Amino acid sequence: MNLALTLLASAGTLGWMWPRFFARIRHRLQPHTALALWPVTQSLFVLLVVAAAIALALPARTAEHLASLLGSCWELLAHGSPQASETIAGASAGLLVGAVLVRIFYLARRERVRQKTLRDKYVGALHLAGTQKPEHPGVWWLETDTPVAFCVAGKNPTVGASTGLFNHLTADEVGAVLAHERAHARFRHHTLILWAESVGRTLPCVPLFAHSPSMVRELAEQAADAEAALDHGHLVVASALRTMSAIPAPAPAPSQILEMVSGTVTTRLERLCAEAYRHPRRRHSVQVGTLLGCAMAVPLVGGCVAALAMYAFSCT
Ligand SMILES: [Zn+2]
Repeated sequence: MNLALTLLASAGTLGWMWPRFFARIRHRLQPHTALALWPVTQSLFVLLVVAAAIALALPARTAEHLASLLGSCWELLAHGSPQASETIAGASAGLLVGAVLVRIFYLARRERVRQKTLRDKYVGALHLAGTQKPEHPGVWWLETDTPVAFCVAGKNPTVGASTGLFNHLTADEVGAVLAHERAHARFRHHTLILWAESVGRTLPCVPLFAHSPSMVRELAEQAADAEAALDHGHLVVASALRTMSAIPAPAPAPSQILEMVSGTVTTRLERLCAEAYRHPRRRHSVQVGTLLGCAMAVPLVGGCVAALAMYAFSCT
């Protein structure tokens, strides 16, 4: 029982404390790093809950045997209450986790089918009304003066833009805008957002999942900006974003389309001009290693504190 409680305490630390910690440090992180952390920490949360369910359901002797293999400290975490009730609790927790996972996959699947239907409609219209230019391969151009650029979700995401970009932006800014949209396609941001929305709707009571849809969508925009800044410079991307955001789009884009002007433009402009965009690739790899270590350490520290508290309580 103690091992299961320790694992649940670790999951709770991750589920409730990690988003607060992340909110404090996010402005110091590379957008790619911050974006990668959400699915990683969510997977870790699920693994901890699954491990807790297994620890409850396992026969006491098996757990004790496993604990003995890991050293004497694990003895503190061995079972201490009647096995039947633990097995029932473990099986119930396992069923609950299974139901949650099934719902996440069901919502993701349903949204994927809905997106495919709409995507086929949008891409069909784009191919019908748009044209391609040899100097911008893979981009479908629409004849309109409003400067817009977007990426439509799909197995092979489609990038579209309006010819109005040429009237309002410099050639380098147009290149930066297209690089931003290509980054959405290359890094599969639509898929990340789809999963974030599915887990957010399934577990709205856990902050780690509830904040996920808005956070992942915002970070995907910042990550695409950072990628465009690698080739065109952060000032060029910021200039293009500032110009396009000053001209209102004809209508808001549906969820399966990521536009150039979406998310919190002010925050994106601040990030583009921040120090964090210097040497982004080197910083990204360092930060990924450091933060993955932190993500692993948070539940471990929480679990150790819970284990020590339970041991002290059992000794009194
Ligand atoms: Zn975008």
